[in-house]
Amino acid sequence: MTTAIYWFRNDLRLEDNPSFLQACKSVDHLLPVYIHQPSLEQDTAWGFPRIGEHRKVFLDQSLQELRSQLRDLGSDLFEMTGDVLDVFEKLKALIDVDIIYCEQIHAPEELEQVALLSSAGFKTNPLWQSSMLDPLDLPFSLQEMPDVFTQFRQQVEKQKLRFAIPVHAPKSIPSLPAIELTSIKVLGRNILSSGNKFWGGERSAHTHIQQYFERRLPDTYKQTRNELIGMNYSSKFSPWLAHGCCSAGSIAKKLADYEFCYGANDGTYWLWFELLWRDYFRFLHFKYGKKLYCSQGLSKVPSNQFDSEKFYKWSSGNTGESLVDAGMCELKKTGYLSNRMRQVVASYWIYDMKGDWQAGCAWFESQLIDYDVYSNQGNWLYIAGKGTDPRGGRPFNVAKQTQDHDPDGIYRQMWLT
Ligand SMILES: Cc1cc2nc3c(=O)[nH]c(=O)nc-3n(C[C@H](O)[C@H](O)[C@H](O)COP(=O)(O)OP(=O)(O)OC[C@H]3O[C@@H](n4cnc5c(N)ncnc54)[C@H](O)[C@@H]3O)c2cc1C
Repeated sequence: MTTAIYWFRNDLRLEDNPSFLQACKSVDHLLPVYIHQPSLEQDTAWGFPRIGEHRKVFLDQSLQELRSQLRDLGSDLFEMTGDVLDVFEKLKALIDVDIIYCEQIHAPEELEQVALLSSAGFKTNPLWQSSMLDPLDLPFSLQEMPDVFTQFRQQVEKQKLRFAIPVHAPKSIPSLPAIELTSIKVLGRNILSSGNKFWGGERSAHTHIQQYFERRLPDTYKQTRNELIGMNYSSKFSPWLAHGCCSAGSIAKKLADYEFCYGANDGTYWLWFELLWRDYFRFLHFKYGKKLYCSQGLSKVPSNQFDSEKFYKWSSGNTGESLVDAGMCELKKTGYLSNRMRQVVASYWIYDMKGDWQAGCAWFESQLIDYDVYSNQGNWLYIAGKGTDPRGGRPFNVAKQTQDHDPDGIYRQMWLT
C-alpha cells in the first residue's frame, strides 16, 4: 500500500492539475495538505510583512473552496502552520509517507524547500505545470531560451505553439491514511471578505472567466487594456492565476475555443500575447535562477540605496505626484493595480525617487492580491533595466502618462479623496 502527501502550493484547483491527477492515479492513500509558512508573516528587511491582508483573504477563500471540493470527493484538506520541513517531519511521525507530490516552483526559496525535504530523506515528485506552454514543446532548451521576449515569441509562433492540453479533474481521490487525523488538523482561518471585487477559489475563477468570454470582452481587450478604471478593461484573471485557482493552459484553451466560435481578432491575440509574457518570465527563471534575485540583477549596476523616508512617501501614496499617489492608494485599498499603473509607480520609484527596486518589488509582493513570484520579479527587473531587456530600463514620464491615461483626473479623484 502506498501513502502519499499532496502538497498544494500555488495550484489550488482540481481541474488541469497534472501533478494532483498523477498522485491520485498512483497511490492507495493520499493526504492533501496546505502549509501556512510563518516566515511569510514576518517582516521583510524593509519593515513590512511579506503577505498583506488582501492576499491572505483571497488565499483563505481559495483554500476554503478547495477543501469543499475535496470533501465532495470524500477527501479533505489539512491546513498546517510551520516551516515546510518541520511540518513534513511531524506528518512522518504519524504516517508512513512514501512520497510527496507537489507542483514545481522554479524560484530560489521554493526550490530550496524541496531540496531540504530531499536531503532529509523524503522522496519528492515536483512537477512543472504553471505555464501556458509545456516547456518540452519549445524548440529550444530553457537554458538556451532567447533573452529577448520578441525572439522568444517569434520562435513560439513559428512552431505554432498555443498551450499545453489541459487535463481533467480526478474523478475520485484515494482515501485518507487511516490515522487519527484530528491530531494534525488545523482548521482554516475565518474567512473574511476584503470588500473588494475578487473572491478566491476554483469555482469563482470559472464563473469569472466564463462571464468574461460570454460578454465577448476579449474582442475589445487590445483597445482597453491600458485603461485604469473598472473590471472590464483587462481580463482580471491574475488573482486566480497567481493562486492556481485556474491554469493558464485552460484559459488559453477557452480563448482558442472562443476564436473558433467567433473568429480571431487583435483582442484575442493580445490576450494570448500577455499570457505568453507570463510564461516568458517563468522560463527565464530556469535560465538565470538566483541571479534574478541579486541587487544588480543581470546588469553590472547595483540598485539605488534604500531610504526609508522616501519609501514611506511612495508606499503610502504621499509623493505629491497625484497619479502615482492615486495608484499607490488603489493598491493599498484593493490589492490590485492595472498593468499601466504598475509600470508608472514602479518607474517613479526607481527613476524619479531613486529608490531601491528590490524594496518596491517586495512592497508589491506584500500588497498585490495577484502576487506571482515570476511575474513580479520579471517586471520589476524589466523596468529597472536589470533583466534581459536590451533597452536597459523603462522610465515612464509621469506628466505624459497623466495626460494620456487620466486627462480629466477621474482616476485620481477616485483614489485621492
Ligand atoms: C512592476 C510590475 C509588477 C507586476 N507584478 C505582477 C505579479 O506579481 N503578478 C502578476 O500576475 N502580474 C504582475 N504584473 C503583470 C501585470 O501587471 C498583471 O499580470 C496584470 O495587470 C493583471 O491584470 P489582468 O489579469 O487584468 O491582466 P490582463 O491584461 O488581462 O492580462 C491577462 C493575463 O496575462 C498575464 N500578464 C499580463 N501582463 C503581464 C506582464 N506584464 N507580465 C506577466 N504576465 C502578464 C497575467 O497573467 C494576466 O492575468 C506586474 C507588472 C508590473 C509592471
